[in-house]
Amino acid sequence: MSITATMPVAKKRPRRTRTKQLSPLPAIQLSKLLPSHLDLRKPLKAVLVCTDCETWVPITGMQGKVQKLVPHHTGKAGAAAAIRCLSSNRLVDFDLTIPEWQQALTDATKEASSRLATTVLPKAFSPQTDRTLRARAERTPAGRVADWAAVLPHVADTDEARRAVPVGDVPAEARSVPRNHLAIQRPAC
Ligand SMILES: [Zn+2]
Repeated sequence: MSITATMPVAKKRPRRTRTKQLSPLPAIQLSKLLPSHLDLRKPLKAVLVCTDCETWVPITGMQGKVQKLVPHHTGKAGAAAAIRCLSSNRLVDFDLTIPEWQQALTDATKEASSRLATTVLPKAFSPQTDRTLRARAERTPAGRVADWAAVLPHVADTDEARRAVPVGDVPAEARSVPRNHLAIQRPAC
């Protein structure tokens, strides 16, 4: 007994854009978009940020000949009026390969992270201050050790000079130091 003959079978859906409608606007070139406004991680479910309404919109017809943005409204459902975005059914020009997009995204991320890592220097008042501040900003642990090593001989010399006692241990022109112990005399009562 076979049941397959009597089971309803869903018609195979065509893998193509369902509507022939086209937006009057020129095609969106992927290379003109910010890499972060494009998501090609799942090529069959590619999405981009619509340049008109700035929402994520799926691209349809990824396996067909013509790629278009799906018809969509401009606002949030339930919150805004149901106004169809002008970029509905807009052609998408795939002038960017997936590896190119990945590279552009990586570069943009790297650029952003390097921007954050930059040390912001205070505004310099003079060339000397500027040099000092720059040297301080660029100072590394190894640089500090080298700085101390360079300073140490001077410190040793100064200490040595301080230890030397000048000739004559008594001031020549001054009152002599009192040598008698002073005791407080209480009046007898
Ligand atoms: Zn839109």
